[in-house]
Parts: sequence; C-alpha cells; structure tokens
Amino acid sequence: MKRILVTGGAGFLGNFLCERLLSRGDHVTCLDNYYTGAQANIARFIGNNNFSVLKQSVCDPVSESFDEIYNLASPASPPHYQADPIFTFKTSVLGTLNMLELARTCGAKVLQASTSEIYGDPLVHPQHEDYWGNVNSIGIRSCYDEGKRGAETLMYDFQRFHQVNVRVVRIFNTYGPGMNPVDGRVVSNFISQALRGSDITIYGDGSQTRSFCYRDDLVEGIIRLMDAPDHVSFPVNIGNPDEFTIRQLAEIVLSKIPSESRLVYRPLPQDDPLQRCPDIGRAKEFLDWEPKIALSDGLETTIDYFRSRIFADGV
Ligand code: UDP
Repeated sequence: MKRILVTGGAGFLGNFLCERLLSRGDHVTCLDNYYTGAQANIARFIGNNNFSVLKQSVCDPVSESFDEIYNLASPASPPHYQADPIFTFKTSVLGTLNMLELARTCGAKVLQASTSEIYGDPLVHPQHEDYWGNVNSIGIRSCYDEGKRGAETLMYDFQRFHQVNVRVVRIFNTYGPGMNPVDGRVVSNFISQALRGSDITIYGDGSQTRSFCYRDDLVEGIIRLMDAPDHVSFPVNIGNPDEFTIRQLAEIVLSKIPSESRLVYRPLPQDDPLQRCPDIGRAKEFLDWEPKIALSDGLETTIDYFRSRIFADGV
C-alpha cells in the first residue's frame, strides 16, 4: 500500500483520481481548501480508513510523509482562475514549491498537473512536448499560463539540484460527469444552456478549436505516468487528439439535447488560443496510453450527469 497525497483532491479530476487510487488499495490523503473543489465531491470516501483529508492551502506546511504526491491544486477554468489572478499565480508557483520541498524531505515522487496552456496561442500544430509555446506574460490568462510554466521550471530545477523524482503531465481540455455545471467552461456552459433552453454563447466566430478528453481517459493517463519507469520524467501531453471547432461542439450538444436554444455570438476573450490539439506520440510510446472515449459518447454520460444536477439539485 502506498501513501499518496492528492492536492486538489476535492476537485473535478482530483476526486476521481482519489477514487481510482483507493480502489487499488492505496492510502489517499486529499489536500484541498475548497476554493473551487467541493467537500461534496469527497463525501463518498468519508469513513474509508484508507482516506484522510487535509483542509488547507497547498501553500501551507504539510508535516506527514508520502510515497507519491499528485499536485493538482489550482483553479482551472478561465473565469475561476481569472477571478483572483494573484491567488492563482501563488497557488501554482508557491504550492508547487511547497510540494517539492515536502517531496525532497520525505523522498516522495511528485507529479505536477501542468496544462496545454503552457503552449499559449500555439504557432505549432498539433502541440508536441518539445514546442516551447507562444505565451503572453502580461495578459489576463498569464496568471495561469505563467504560473504553470513557473511550476514546471521548479519541477526540473528540483530534479537537477535535489534529485527529486518528477513527472509532468500537460493536461488538455477535459470534461465528464462531476464537472461543476457553473465553472464557465465551454462544455459545461453549452450543456447547461441547452438543458435550460437558453442561448448557447459562442465566443468569437466559433472557429477556434479544442480537443476534449473524457475524465476517465485522462485520469488513466495520469496514473500511468506516475507509475512509469523513472526515465519517463519529461513532460507528457495527455489529451484527446480529436479536434473540434467550438461551433461544431455547440452543434453536437444541440443534436443530443432537444432544445429551443439559439446560437449567439459574444466577443472572443483576450488571448483565447485559436487552436489546440495534443500530439500524443509520447504518451503512446512511453505509457501505452491513448484515449478510448469519443466525444459523442462521453457527452452522453456528461449530459445525463448535468441533467440530474440541474433538475434534481437546481444548480
Ligand atoms: N467558449 C465559448 N463559449 C462559452 C465558454 C467558452 O465559446 O460559453 C470558448 C472559449 O472562448 C474558448 C473555448 O470555448 O475558445 C474553450 O473555453 P474553456 O473556457 O472551456 O477552456 P480553455 O480551453 O479556453 O481554457
């Protein structure tokens, strides 16, 4: 049995990661301050002797020892991370620094949840891990993009200077049951809008692209990366390479939800990347990983989940 710390363990991906690790018999400690995560997401684990909770910031001291640390703590949807950009930047940089100091002290392996945002508005397509990115350092997305880039820098400096065993996963857009219906992301917005019969808000002309990975596929990739041999310490993209325009996504959602909703167009937010698609060659080669759930199938279960949240809980 491993002792595993999951920071951001009460978030959308974090709680599902905790579930997977518990189900294989590990002891899981969830660290979360519930800034965007929710206690309700981990309620099902309370009473499990292999599960414990640290209600605190990832930047605050942790005194226990662990074998592995999954560092997921950070607001992740644009409206959430832009709401308090200084907090977002500190969470990424100081939180990762804190987890690396902890790992150095107790000899833990650390996996950093990085992001496709480190590629910025990419000039290379699809994005391979060797691409350095095209990032604005002073825009409204910078707190997240540069915070996550700074976190990657710390990971590799701790590897070089302190021999910490590091993993870096670059996570592309992910969706699935358990998403917060009001997180402001495109999948949650479009499904919620269609279910309510309200306007579907397309930002810009809808020609920008994203590649959407189902939650289960994503978490499988993250665990495989943590469990991979030690030489797999370079960044690895995990995402679904099927690329869609945002307008296509709206049309697919509307084809699955009978709705009165109309498509309406709103201004494109500053620095919104025009295209995004992962090159997953590395994940295939080193993790034997590729996504299994197509967008059309994943949206079905996600829509069912949103329907139950919206109509049962009134979210
Ligand atoms: N978007 C949109 N309508 C919405 C929310 C988002 O058209 O109601 C667009 C957004 O401008 C971006 C894409 O959908 O081009 C993905 O946005 P999201 O916030 O989900 O994540 P991002 O990939 O930008 O971090």
